[in-house]
Amino acid sequence: MVTRKTVWIGTNWKMNKGPAEALAAAEALKAYRAPDGVKPFIITPFTSLQAVASVLKGADVLVGAQNMHWEESGSWTGEISPGMVKECGADIVLIGHSERRQHFAETDWTVSRKMSAALRHGLRPLLCIGESLEEYDFGVTAETLSRQLKIALHDVAHADLPNILIAYEPVWAIGAGGRAADTDCVAKVHAGLRAVLCEIAGKDIGDRVPLLYGGSVTQDNARSYVSQPNVDGVFVGRAGWSVPDFEKLIDRVI
Ligand code: PGA
Repeated sequence: MVTRKTVWIGTNWKMNKGPAEALAAAEALKAYRAPDGVKPFIITPFTSLQAVASVLKGADVLVGAQNMHWEESGSWTGEISPGMVKECGADIVLIGHSERRQHFAETDWTVSRKMSAALRHGLRPLLCIGESLEEYDFGVTAETLSRQLKIALHDVAHADLPNILIAYEPVWAIGAGGRAADTDCVAKVHAGLRAVLCEIAGKDIGDRVPLLYGGSVTQDNARSYVSQPNVDGVFVGRAGWSVPDFEKLIDRVI
């Protein structure tokens, strides 16, 4: 058992599960009792957000959205506002996932706008940061992450920082073509992130910001990440898409 901390374990359903399948998964998760100290969460597509959040209201599994705009309303075809996400019943909102940055022109600036908007609406932002393979190869991982973090958190009040989640997700580790990062490498990167957070907000606050790892996390390797200092959970894609697999993964971490 990992005793020292609250452990966040979430799965991002990405562009999977239509409304019927998502609802069935939510019904299956409703009765799930999380082990002590574990906070499980699922990140659903917009098309099932409201239904899934309503089924899981009061359950152990928290619900989040995969993205949102930073504006309250207006002429933004195809976008979803923070207020809409909140009204659907979400607790969490994913911000700056690498698939958004890579394929949908999400920038550090839009990420920064979205961070403050989420907090203004009482949502818990899950900020994703991570270096590309090229940045990793050039040895600028620490610089890249520090830049992403400082811009994303620029307008966030220090007192709000313990209420956010940050996931370190190296771009080269995510998805079918990715390879999971070594635990030593994750421990080192997370120590660096902790130092940046303490530099930004002071040690008392910086030490309390949950730092998750994501990228090819599986039932077999999840525990080794969570056992590292400064790793407060894992953010899972493929290995959490089936409800029994997700529950098994949590069991194997604890
Ligand atoms: P993966 O995705 O676990 O399928 O690599 C992780 C993520 O995108 O957060």
